Amino acid sequence: MKKGEIVKVSGPLVVAKGMAGSKMYDVVRVSEERLVGEIIGLTGDLASIQVYEDTSGIGPGEPVYMTDQPLYVELGPGLIESIFDGIQRPLDIIRDKTGDNITRGIEIPALERDKKWHFKPVVKVGATVSPGDILGEVKETVLVVQKIMIPPQSKGKVKKITEGEYTITDTVCELETENGVEKITLMQRWPVRQPRPYKERLAPSLTLSTGQRVIDAFFPIAKGGTACCPGPFGSGKTVIQHQLAKWADAEIIVYIGCGERGNEMTDVLLEFPELKDPTSGEPLMKRTVLIANTSNMPVAAREASVYTGITIAEYFRDMGYSVAVMADSTSRWAEAMREISGRLEEMPGEEGYPAYLSAKVSSFYERAGRIKALGDPSREGALSVIGAVSPPGGDLSDPVVQATLRVVKVFWSLEDRLAYQRHFPAISWLNSYSLYIDDVSEDLNKKTAKDFTDLSKDAMRLLEQEAELQEIVRLIGVDALSPEDRLILEGARSIREDFLHQNAFHEIDTYASLSKQYKMLSICMFNYSKAKEALARGVLYADIVNMAVRDKIARMRYLPESDIAKIDALRDEITQEFDKLIKGEKAKTGEEVEEGEKEKEAFTGEEKEEEGKKEEPEKKTRRSRRKK
Ligand code: ADP
Repeated sequence: MKKGEIVKVSGPLVVAKGMAGSKMYDVVRVSEERLVGEIIGLTGDLASIQVYEDTSGIGPGEPVYMTDQPLYVELGPGLIESIFDGIQRPLDIIRDKTGDNITRGIEIPALERDKKWHFKPVVKVGATVSPGDILGEVKETVLVVQKIMIPPQSKGKVKKITEGEYTITDTVCELETENGVEKITLMQRWPVRQPRPYKERLAPSLTLSTGQRVIDAFFPIAKGGTACCPGPFGSGKTVIQHQLAKWADAEIIVYIGCGERGNEMTDVLLEFPELKDPTSGEPLMKRTVLIANTSNMPVAAREASVYTGITIAEYFRDMGYSVAVMADSTSRWAEAMREISGRLEEMPGEEGYPAYLSAKVSSFYERAGRIKALGDPSREGALSVIGAVSPPGGDLSDPVVQATLRVVKVFWSLEDRLAYQRHFPAISWLNSYSLYIDDVSEDLNKKTAKDFTDLSKDAMRLLEQEAELQEIVRLIGVDALSPEDRLILEGARSIREDFLHQNAFHEIDTYASLSKQYKMLSICMFNYSKAKEALARGVLYADIVNMAVRDKIARMRYLPESDIAKIDALRDEITQEFDKLIKGEKAKTGEEVEEGEKEKEAFTGEEKEEEGKKEEPEKKTRRSRRKK
């Protein structure tokens, strides 16, 4: 094996001489301990190497072995349910073997070599196959069938293929190719820094529904789209990522955890395997690959982890799955780049980040997309990427946030102001945006009703008007507002509290189907339009905001999916109540109020106590409004 010699060690960066003949991004093994490193700079025969393991005790004069291979990942059965580090070392297996601290230079393959998988061919002997064609299937977990594809560089005629039990390195198929017989195994390899090929890119015209109302109705993400959620500590980034992992319309989840602090990552490692897949009731891990990097692991491994994660995701995308990649948090990834760049003594850009920060961030998000995969049968896959960014102090002018916003198409702005008010998800409706709205509106309307996107535009307009009016209220008080303006505030309040607010920890409220979202939003807007009409016909504002049906509107979200037809029934009730008001029957006799209470119970069932706490201040404000 060719080797060079270390001349300098600086933390995770090693400089070695005598490296002529090696290439950028080649993997090397550093010192007799054989630490894994990657060449990230070459000048003459001097190579700068980022080392993925702790370099303490390593010094000049020690050898660096060249492998002439890039950093690659192993792709095949065994990926799902695994927990890998940034360079795809299986953390769970290593822990079983060596305890909590990874022994340096340890050589454990990413995918288990001994385990046998049942392979079922879908092509016959004699078939001509080319890159991406599906040869057969392996049922990897109860939730995932792995399609065994012809690797992107192979083609030929199937000479031998048999159903049976195989390890990932056994030959499952022999191909007759131009260069002789090629043996195909269940596993293939792919260099992480190179996007996997596909046939054709497709328009982002399908919604990736998430069951989260503020996202689907106002700031939707497309299948194959990119989104980011920057926000300060405690604003709900992790909860959002977990919600999306559970509820997004994706078959495979790749969760890349770039450690905040060591113990936070432990939380992910402990919490994630606990999450349940809501549709099947199975553990969510049965369709998840977890990449975990704590901040006490060497910083270079964090730099590599996003590539490892996205390459695994592309592999499942190529099978025709909808894959969602969550990266939490990309700020830690960027910090790793900053540290390495500093040690390389490169010219620093903004805040010490390397000048190529933007380029790196874009090249990561650009690997997202909805595509037509290579091969037969024709399949469409999607890879959606959702990155959390945690800028210091939640400052959006942070270079990582800015670099991310330049490339992603959806921005969910998490605000601590909303989190303090316990408005969750704390996604600001005024600052967030989605550039997919036009692309996906046809799909959204097809899945709900033809006016869904129009409704959400109207609702958004109301929220914007509210923001303007609030400025006036701050200056001269609410009394200065006309009843019409006060009604706008009331309409917007209803959108915020009855629709946007969503409790991730409530059994039913945690998810809302698109149909439920449509029904809820149309009730809020219908109620508002009726109120406007009533006001125009002389009904008092105070009477409008005291209507009994308001409580039912507030409780729509607790109706299970099987019961959402009841939401439509509210339309009649609203109409009747307004008709009464308009007719001047003030419907405030003791008897009727009692009746209203009974009805309310029937409507809400046990969910009442959930809202108990919120109810108090709400009632108070209503009473005080009545006084006025
Ligand atoms: P971050 O990752 O930004 O530091 P977390 O995701 O840990 O923040 O959220 C902080 C806390 O906010 C959570 O522990 C939870 O109590 C609350 N929270 C966030 N989102 C929601 C939500 N959708 N529903 C209810 N509570 C939420």
